[in-house]
Amino acid sequence: MPNLHRIYDAHAYDTQTPVGSYWEATMPATPAFPALDGDRRAGVAIIGAGYTGLSTALHLARDYGEAPLVIEAAQPGWGASGRNAGFCGFGGAKLGDSAIIRRFGENDLRAFYSAQKEAVALVRDLTSSGGIEAEAQVDGEYCLAHNASAARALPEVAEGLRRYAGVECSVLSAQEMQQEGLHGDGFHGGFLLPQGFGLNPGKYAAGLARLAQQAGAVIHGSTPALSVQEEPGGTYIIETPTGRIQADRLIVASNGYSSDNLPDWLRGRYLPVVSHIIVTRPLTELEKQTQGWTTRRIAYDTRNLLHYFRLLPDDRVLFGMRGTSNITAGSMQRMRRQIRHEFEALFPALICAETEFHWSGLVCLTRGLIPYAGQIGNWRRAWTGFGYHGGGVAMATYTGRLLAGIAAGKPYKSPLPSLMQQRPAAIPFPRLRRHSLPLAYTFYGVRDLGW
Ligand SMILES: Cc1cc2nc3c(=O)[nH]c(=O)nc-3n(C[C@H](O)[C@H](O)[C@H](O)COP(=O)(O)OP(=O)(O)OC[C@H]3O[C@@H](n4cnc5c(N)ncnc54)[C@H](O)[C@@H]3O)c2cc1C
Repeated sequence: MPNLHRIYDAHAYDTQTPVGSYWEATMPATPAFPALDGDRRAGVAIIGAGYTGLSTALHLARDYGEAPLVIEAAQPGWGASGRNAGFCGFGGAKLGDSAIIRRFGENDLRAFYSAQKEAVALVRDLTSSGGIEAEAQVDGEYCLAHNASAARALPEVAEGLRRYAGVECSVLSAQEMQQEGLHGDGFHGGFLLPQGFGLNPGKYAAGLARLAQQAGAVIHGSTPALSVQEEPGGTYIIETPTGRIQADRLIVASNGYSSDNLPDWLRGRYLPVVSHIIVTRPLTELEKQTQGWTTRRIAYDTRNLLHYFRLLPDDRVLFGMRGTSNITAGSMQRMRRQIRHEFEALFPALICAETEFHWSGLVCLTRGLIPYAGQIGNWRRAWTGFGYHGGGVAMATYTGRLLAGIAAGKPYKSPLPSLMQQRPAAIPFPRLRRHSLPLAYTFYGVRDLGW
């Protein structure tokens, strides 16, 4: 059997050990999706059952009457989709608005914001009229300035959102933030974006899998693709440990959990980075009042290595950040101490709220800092979507719908901004790309300190 070429240690891809996330503990017991058993023919085969793969499957089945075959190395939602922070809001790119305007123009920035708005609306629709019970919380997200100079820039950011996204944001002083019910040490005010809400990402992924299956998709868990080839006749052959699939069309939806040789075209075109999350025990009423944190809105700060946090429906705090370049037992321990240190510095009244859950996962970046939705190299009937830069709850769901339209040959009339159609360039020296991260973390960490 061929080896999958992956850039992190095996632990990061170990599908046998539980992730250890809070979300796992909230999931009802359901039967596992069975492994593929034998050979199959399929109109469309999809590799990976996160939001991208599941949304593609759902829309192909529901809107185009196809019966896509989905294979997942673990179980649906095992990757980033079942272990993220559950912020469903704007996102998808790390490239700033002014750089997007320089490279693609104002119209494309507007189209990208339209896509982000539609993406959030799509998740809202799937969780309400689609019947996915994903514990959606109150609307709105806060962006908090981590220093005075970031605070001075907020009105300009809000003006950009008004002009290009058509969204009115309220800029808030530190005192007004306290009145909103979010007080943290060292924050210099922020703004409120009306879009966005928090949800339970594991339940959302499970709900997408259920909807896709009900619509006619076939899903196999515990079925890693070991190789994929385009045959001279234009079909795709996928080898798995327990069977082989021959498909007319192919979607690769493995995102941050991809392998550099599945297919070869992906080598170096994606950069998975590790993000860590802790969840505390439920806060007491007194702790919430003393800290001044009562809002259920999702929140993050303006650091390059941003902190993201929210008060969950059962009064636990979720707090996340980036910062390690590997996932090993040692790096998990180091990061557990560091994340706790940063959490307590921002929210000192919560010092006694112990950490009950700590886990990590791979967020996917690209060299151009923009997401991709399109063809895989010169393979004529194969497509992929990846690189949502920590903003994939909405954007991966949206990209899945776009890919379904492309694969069905009848694209949705939703915006596909040209920035999302740029083929991602490979990062030089792809095998070394993870090792450049400590330097980047130090650089951005120092900038966040204002030095
Ligand atoms: C810790 C963390 C916090 C985050 N927080 C947020 C947030 O709050 N809001 C937000 O919008 N985004 C967030 N993100 C990002 C978001 O989770 C992702 O962008 C999104 O889930 C991507 O979905 P996906 O389906 O493309 O990829 P994934 O969910 O990673 O799915 C890829 C799947 O492919 C499978 N796979 C890989 N290779 C193979 C193979 N060879 N054969 C079969 N299957 C394979 C994997 O097992 C995996 O399940 C976060 C990510 C992390 C890691």
